Amino acid sequence: MKRCEGKVALVTGGSRGIGAAVALRLAEEGADVVVTYEKGAERAAEVVDAIKARGGRALAVQADCAVPEALTAAVDAAVATFGGLDILVNNAAVFLVGPLGDLGRADIDRTLAVNVRAPLLAAQAAVRHMGHGGRVITIGSNVADRAPFPGLSLYAMSKTALAGMTKALARELGPRGITVNLVHPGPTDTDANPADGPNAEAIAGLTALGRYAEPAEIAATIAHLAGPDAQYVTGASIHVDGGFTA
Ligand code: NDP
Repeated sequence: MKRCEGKVALVTGGSRGIGAAVALRLAEEGADVVVTYEKGAERAAEVVDAIKARGGRALAVQADCAVPEALTAAVDAAVATFGGLDILVNNAAVFLVGPLGDLGRADIDRTLAVNVRAPLLAAQAAVRHMGHGGRVITIGSNVADRAPFPGLSLYAMSKTALAGMTKALARELGPRGITVNLVHPGPTDTDANPADGPNAEAIAGLTALGRYAEPAEIAATIAHLAGPDAQYVTGASIHVDGGFTA
């Protein structure tokens, strides 16, 4: 039996990058998958089509994570379409960087709404539907623990907040058999951080392995955490970063 057979997963920001890889991998593991997106309807539809082509079940829902009602509606859509919700992957984020003096109030508010408030609100909505074996998995960042360049204060702050949320929710939801974990990817080849970008060589040089990750390499750890083999892992921050923080 596949390790996520009979489970329903919701992946925020599943239209491309790491979120799309997670959606495809969880579907491969047997889960029914709902992906949310903000603007990328076509890319989200491609992910859904790819899952369906392999015999899986999937749905794309437009939902800006900055809008609390949209998040709740996405959770409701998952439950209405697939009959429940077992796995939440908080993946969507914005990457607004720049010197402190250049950060506008709108940048700060947007980052906190999408990167910090949304994971908490999505967890709040999702766990209402979860039973024993439920999973809340959030995507952090390598720069939560090591900010090697100037300009990362806002983004790094938003990602560090997720460690506190993860630990506290693990305590709160443990008695219900729901695990809560945080995965910190290292530099990963996506639209947000292309492996052929202007600073990519320097960034890759900060890892022990000397290279970027493929999104599927991050998704592999998410699939493990989502499955039964990880049932005793909770409150953890796991680095999948090629040794960036070593
Ligand atoms: P991408 O920019 O490639 O993809 C972002 C995804 O999030 C898209 O699906 C996008 O949807 C969605 N999204 C963005 N904003 C919103 C929103 N407001 N509401 C709903 N969906 C939204 O990012 P990555 O795949 O690189 O990053 C995924 C996660 O990994 C993020 O949490 C990021 O912080 C983290 N991370 C990435 C690293 C990297 O090197 N790539 C390193 C460390 C952490 P749409 O298509 O509609 O725009």
